Amino acid sequence: MWVSKLRYETVIGLEVHVELKTKAKLWCGCSTQFGAEPNTQVCPVCLGLPGGLPVLNRKAVELALTTGLALNCVLTADCRFDRKHYFYPDLPKGYQITQFYHPIGREGWLEVEFADGPRRVRIKEIHLEEEAGRTYHLPAGQDGGAASLLDYNRSGIPLLEIVTAPELSSPAEARLFLEELKAVLECLEVSDAKMEEGSFRCDANLSVRRPGEALGKRVELKNLNSFRALEAALAYEEERQRELLAQGEPLRHEEVRAWDEEKGITVYMREKERVADYRYFPEPEVPPLAIPAAWVQTLRRRLPELPMEKRRRYLEVYQLAAADAALLSRRKAEAAFFEATLRYYRGSAQNVANWILGELTRIMKEAKQSVADLRFSAEDLAALLQLQDQKVISGKIAKAVLEEMFRTGNKPAAIIEEHGWQQISDPGTIKTLVRETLAANPAAVEDYLGGKEKAFAFFVGDVMRKSKGRVNPELLNTILRAELGNYTAAGHSGGQGGHEAG
Ligand code: ADP
Ligand code: MG
Ligand code: ZN
Repeated sequence: MWVSKLRYETVIGLEVHVELKTKAKLWCGCSTQFGAEPNTQVCPVCLGLPGGLPVLNRKAVELALTTGLALNCVLTADCRFDRKHYFYPDLPKGYQITQFYHPIGREGWLEVEFADGPRRVRIKEIHLEEEAGRTYHLPAGQDGGAASLLDYNRSGIPLLEIVTAPELSSPAEARLFLEELKAVLECLEVSDAKMEEGSFRCDANLSVRRPGEALGKRVELKNLNSFRALEAALAYEEERQRELLAQGEPLRHEEVRAWDEEKGITVYMREKERVADYRYFPEPEVPPLAIPAAWVQTLRRRLPELPMEKRRRYLEVYQLAAADAALLSRRKAEAAFFEATLRYYRGSAQNVANWILGELTRIMKEAKQSVADLRFSAEDLAALLQLQDQKVISGKIAKAVLEEMFRTGNKPAAIIEEHGWQQISDPGTIKTLVRETLAANPAAVEDYLGGKEKAFAFFVGDVMRKSKGRVNPELLNTILRAELGNYTAAGHSGGQGGHEAG
């Protein structure tokens, strides 16, 4: 029987690998610094040489526990480590030390704001494990035949694997979940969480089924190097599997497929391994890890406000627009700057949010800098916005002042003074400027009187140009209308302003 493809349901679960931000590796004292010369941060332990004995890095456990708490996991008081066996040159021991039987955390959840509202996505488990080394495949070239190069600097860096339940129902939801998770990890400062550097990686599992049926066979997708890639690969795979189901050919085997970024397709890699293939068994060289309750309590007390909580507060307390609350709450440094500015500013919180998310973000991006690099304080930003509110400067000038603050670190008042940027609000001065403009452009005046409203904008532009944007825009509007009114009243060519200036 033919069934509409639209009636299929998509089921997605993610496995996320996060490099924990420790100075030393998980089982040895080697540095975890990114970008060093190959094989300069290695020792017998992380090279897997015989006789090397693993000693657990306390900091890695602390970061894993902190993440577990933030993800509402049940923490395992006596967690253990296991060996997972597979052969690959970047895994010199021939097994990875991971947690299979007793992961450090289980049954957690993360709340995410989806298109149809907030929902908790369950976290099946989180477990600690170690990174493998890195393989570089070189094609045959001038220097000789094809070669594979191995760099073990990464070998043994602590990883936290976060596994979700199969509860995401579209590629867009998968992306939103992953973005929220990244924001949480950044907020906790447990990881750099940089997809580009590989410290935040995601494998995605997808299956389709008819509503009400059991879970279908799934495909695991690899090589998802950006949020865009994750969403695109899942969308492709979703369509491919629906097509197969619609043709009455559901997947026979669970398989692993790789996203081909250039072609925009997923490509078969291998059949999915079964658990038995890994010959898991308890790691004999690492004793069980007893986690004192007092330690967990201390870490719980130290938890920062998480992005979702912050977002709620921004909506409730500051009444920010929903999109701005979402953006700001995910950027820790910007959010702190926003709140610091509000301590000095007597105006709307939304105005501050607009400036930070708009102009300031633009300037920082252009200069490839972040909030930590700013040479001015939140108090200075508050002063700038206050000056604009008091109409000492216009919005346009305020932007120029912000650029100067960014460049020099000088105070807004000093910058305005130095450049003579105070707004012109004296009606007499504005009237003179307007009359000059009208007198110099008789043709445009004719146009305006003939009904071309566009000419009005031209006059405004001209006055602003002459005054370098300093004229108070509302006053300019009023005075310009009045002056043009004189022309109409006195006839086309007999305008008072025209006579005087001509
Ligand atoms: P594995 O043996 O591959 O480690 P897990 O049970 O740990 O299997 O699941 C790995 C990931 O695959 C989890 O994120 C889970 O939600 C997801 N997953 C499991 N079954 C399905 C399915 N039928 N469809 C989609 N995702 C699934
Ligand atoms: Mg798994
Ligand atoms: Zn080492």
